[in-house]
Amino acid sequence: MSFEIKKIGVVGSGQMGNGIAHVCAKAGYVVHMLDSNPDAAKAGLEKIDRNMEREVARGIFEPAAKAEALARITAGTDYQAFADCQLVIEAATEDETIKKAILTELVAVIAEDALIASNTSSISITRLGAHTDRPGKFVGMHFMNPVPRMELVEIIRGIATDEDTYSIIKELAIKLGKSPVSAEDFPAFIVNRILLPMINEAVYTLYEGVGSVISIDTAMKLGTHHPMGPLELADFIGLDTCLAVMHVLHDGLADTKYRPCPLLVKYVEAGWLGRKSGRGFYDYSGDSPVPTR
Ligand code: NAD
Repeated sequence: MSFEIKKIGVVGSGQMGNGIAHVCAKAGYVVHMLDSNPDAAKAGLEKIDRNMEREVARGIFEPAAKAEALARITAGTDYQAFADCQLVIEAATEDETIKKAILTELVAVIAEDALIASNTSSISITRLGAHTDRPGKFVGMHFMNPVPRMELVEIIRGIATDEDTYSIIKELAIKLGKSPVSAEDFPAFIVNRILLPMINEAVYTLYEGVGSVISIDTAMKLGTHHPMGPLELADFIGLDTCLAVMHVLHDGLADTKYRPCPLLVKYVEAGWLGRKSGRGFYDYSGDSPVPTR
């Protein structure tokens, strides 16, 4: 295989996009990160700087290497900067309409042989790939949050994904220091197929008054040795993303066991999206998170 990746594009500079840009630049790739919101692009770059600085403080990144990695990343709003990328990883909001609009803009500017990966948590890779001019060069590359710290990358083949595309992305995941696992293209793949119904059930447990936020999170941390309680984890993932994944499971598998909890719907309608908006099942405005129920 003579295909060599040198420059990687990332669409979306939110918590996942900036994490993906971080690990790619750290592994030596040139990176361009795009966001439709110029403030988000700038904030993403600043977040990478802060997160890399933390790695320097922990002694796992040399200061000089950090400066070089940071210098390999550019950020902005212009798709033309993807013209010389061999791979673009889409990591924008979990919404099929938004992702399809991005793919339309992307295929108009990238090289004919460039690969596209999506970091979607749940949406069909086959359907997203079919929306491009290159379903064979389209693949799911699902990183975990926070990207610099989590070891796993799920690699998802759409029905049309070429074997070469799959192998190149698997090799890339290893070069980024991650452990790849292969998942078939079913709603929410492996991790979120299992994790999100558990989180949704935790929200039902809260909704029905079985326990308070603290009781539920403490019970699951001490009772099952989960490092974070399910409600704390939901806030960390983003409640909008959690709801979007439940909708994909409910629609895609047509089973009422995936019905999103009405309380989760209400929180998202209120704009209470978790950590990223300052409030979810906890209020993050003070020094330490305070449960809201
Ligand atoms: P986020 O809300 O932190 O960031 C999304 C970013 O996408 C925002 O900066 C937004 O401005 C940008 N965006 C929206 N529309 C856009 C457009 N048309 N063009 C370019 N940028 C656009 O969300 P996130 O948590 O980073 O999630 C991003 C993707 O990663 C989603 O597909 C999500 O399902 C997936 N994912 C999330 C997690 C998680 O734990 N949060 C884990 C794995 C995968």
